[in-house]
Amino acid sequence: MSQPFVDELSAQTGFAGNPLDRLSALRDDQQAVETLLRSPQARTLIFAGEVPVMKATGLDPFFAPVEAMGLGAMREQVLLGVAEEGPLFATLFDADIAMGDPLGVPGRDDLSLVDLRSLAVKRLQSRSVLGMMAQAKSLLHWHMRHRFCSNCGASSQMASAGWKRICSACNAQHFPRTDPVVIMVAVRGDHCLLGRQPRFAPGMYSALAGFIEPGETVEDAVRREVMEEAGIQIGRVSYMASQPWPFPASLMIGCLAEAVSQEITVDRTELEDARWFTRAEVQQMLQGTHEKFLAAPQLIAIARTLLQTWAS
Ligand SMILES: [Zn+2]
Repeated sequence: MSQPFVDELSAQTGFAGNPLDRLSALRDDQQAVETLLRSPQARTLIFAGEVPVMKATGLDPFFAPVEAMGLGAMREQVLLGVAEEGPLFATLFDADIAMGDPLGVPGRDDLSLVDLRSLAVKRLQSRSVLGMMAQAKSLLHWHMRHRFCSNCGASSQMASAGWKRICSACNAQHFPRTDPVVIMVAVRGDHCLLGRQPRFAPGMYSALAGFIEPGETVEDAVRREVMEEAGIQIGRVSYMASQPWPFPASLMIGCLAEAVSQEITVDRTELEDARWFTRAEVQQMLQGTHEKFLAAPQLIAIARTLLQTWAS
């Protein structure tokens, strides 16, 4: 099983603690996948649309495959990999097996549904479970939204234990997507550039971010985004850390960006505000002691990991 180096910054980010061996060489061997599913150690995560289904007792997210069958007609079942405890699958049901507020499955008081963001923010699951849930959620989301072939429009079928879809009409193969996003702390001397979007919690400032576009390097995307959002010119860009971000299927690529200009021009369609912060101020924001109650992003966000690294 592949273990991350503990001193890798990426290993500290939320959703990064996935311990599974993904068994990618085995996915096309249908018989081997069947054998894993029938093993007494086999377990599955369960999703109702986007939302994890767990046992009400202790929010245990692991079910025997036969327990999942008891929930009705499954949409897809994919192989996530194998952990020390045994093979792990993820099973997708339609979102409408659950209803109400709080969400529940009618007639099943033994089940609880809590969205993945809340599970992570409130630390209701361990790091390793959050990592496995992130893998499951992003992959199942792709299946939900890619039922039809994007080449010819016919319906497509799952293959390779969930890691591919094949169109039976035109034979096109489709693979799960991961969307790369750059997120960067722009620095100039003892200052760093942070911004806030209107949807942020009051007083919270974070690193600027944006999707990488086709034909762009990570470094070019960083320079373009900082120029677009804050009017700041960026010179050298260096990679710091990455993080899977399952909302729905991003890879956050965290960078340090050396600013070569000072004057900020805020793009008001993207941001409510952007400004320079001193290192001391960022330390106060991280500790929750800022005199104007300004705050750093929450623990599960890679922006916080990047700021912590820069501030210390
Ligand atoms: Zn097709």
